[in-house]
Amino acid sequence: MNNFKKKPDPRHPNPHHYDLIVVGASFAGLIAARTAAHRGLRVAVIDAKSEPGARVRTTGILVKEAVEECDIPAALTRKIHGARLYAPNHKHIDLFAPGYYFLATDTPAVMRWLARETARAGADLFFGARYTGAVVIDHQVRLPDLNLTADYLLGADGAKSRVAESFGLGRNSEFLIGMETEYEETPTVDPDYLHCFLDTKLAPGYLGWVVPGAGMTQVGLAVSNGNFSAKRKPDYDAFVKNIDRHFALWNCEVKAKRSGPIPCGGVVKPLSTHRVLLTGDAAGLVSPLTAGGIRFAFRYGRRVGAVISEYLQDGGADPGLVMAREYPRFGLKTWMRRAWSAAPPNALINAALFTPPMQALAQWIYFQKRGGLVSEKPERRPHNHQNPFRAFS
Ligand SMILES: Cc1cc2nc3c(=O)[nH]c(=O)nc-3n(C[C@H](O)[C@H](O)[C@H](O)COP(=O)(O)OP(=O)(O)OC[C@H]3O[C@@H](n4cnc5c(N)ncnc54)[C@H](O)[C@@H]3O)c2cc1C
Repeated sequence: MNNFKKKPDPRHPNPHHYDLIVVGASFAGLIAARTAAHRGLRVAVIDAKSEPGARVRTTGILVKEAVEECDIPAALTRKIHGARLYAPNHKHIDLFAPGYYFLATDTPAVMRWLARETARAGADLFFGARYTGAVVIDHQVRLPDLNLTADYLLGADGAKSRVAESFGLGRNSEFLIGMETEYEETPTVDPDYLHCFLDTKLAPGYLGWVVPGAGMTQVGLAVSNGNFSAKRKPDYDAFVKNIDRHFALWNCEVKAKRSGPIPCGGVVKPLSTHRVLLTGDAAGLVSPLTAGGIRFAFRYGRRVGAVISEYLQDGGADPGLVMAREYPRFGLKTWMRRAWSAAPPNALINAALFTPPMQALAQWIYFQKRGGLVSEKPERRPHNHQNPFRAFS
């Protein structure tokens, strides 16, 4: 089950005991493990997947704030400067903010890179290792099925966290359901924009998207399956039929399909118990408005790795208490999401999207503090340098 395990270390006589076990080798878990390993903890990461980058569920767009937390090799990404927001009648506005960008990613490759970085920092990574439950006895966490023990357990195991369930911690209860198809790259998609489609019939509670990805085109939509109505499911075929006059996707080869739940109800409670803490999607760390979670997975994953290290090495404060103070609240955004889930009529959106207040709101949602007037399109510069060697002359 182990593709990334080091040779036995004579300084640690019990090879089955770790300072920290992280459940989940994705954005949050790998960053946390890498940080803790860099700080000298003996760390194991376990994941049910067969290998890093397998069964990716995300579109993998990184907002600029995510890149500020974790630099990603440029060769695995494509920079996108603007967002084109389409009303249900397909009229659109273009949004930019000076200096801001999104990165589309080759997500499986990013995962493999992150896993290698984490192993390089000193962590042991176990794939094909499913967490089924654990107990805490005498300040020690025991995972009987995997024959492992640890001084601390971090649950970074996603939206439907088994760690949260097994320790009676808070669990996500409001979700968006996302569905996406990956096509070969097509010239019909303007690469300067994330193409976002507002349509409360086809995508109630969220939106549909067409992303000029890193070497492919990603097309998807998400719908809320929240509290206001019977369970909803994304109707992908109806969405593609609706937008295909812009992109001619029927002509493109399908490379992959994926779907998954996105928590959107805010941070769960309780977050922790003695020697056990949640982070990433398991903790509900997803913006209820944009449904982006990678930025928070990076930011708080890294922080959690540091706080657990201080707790175990330096007598630092209880990580659960520290993170309960530091994790974001999302109050207003959660309420805005619930209002959007009530699916205002498309006719209203057609009429409102081109008014200055709605444009300012859209600018704020996409670019946060950089909001303001709809900005000029920046000059495009080449981003991905395929050739790593420069002529020396
Ligand atoms: C369709 C879709 C599109 C999205 N697009 C974006 C986007 O473009 N940008 C963005 O910022 N966010 C996006 N999100 C949200 C984003 O993917 C998540 O917020 C992010 O992946 C959370 O990272 P994580 O590490 O907390 O959990 P996850 O990425 O969910 O990883 C959890 C890991 O835990 C493992 N695991 C689960 N259970 C067990 C178990 N019992 N034992 C062992 N291992 C286990 C899984 O195999 C997995 O590797 C999207 C989500 C979906 C569903």
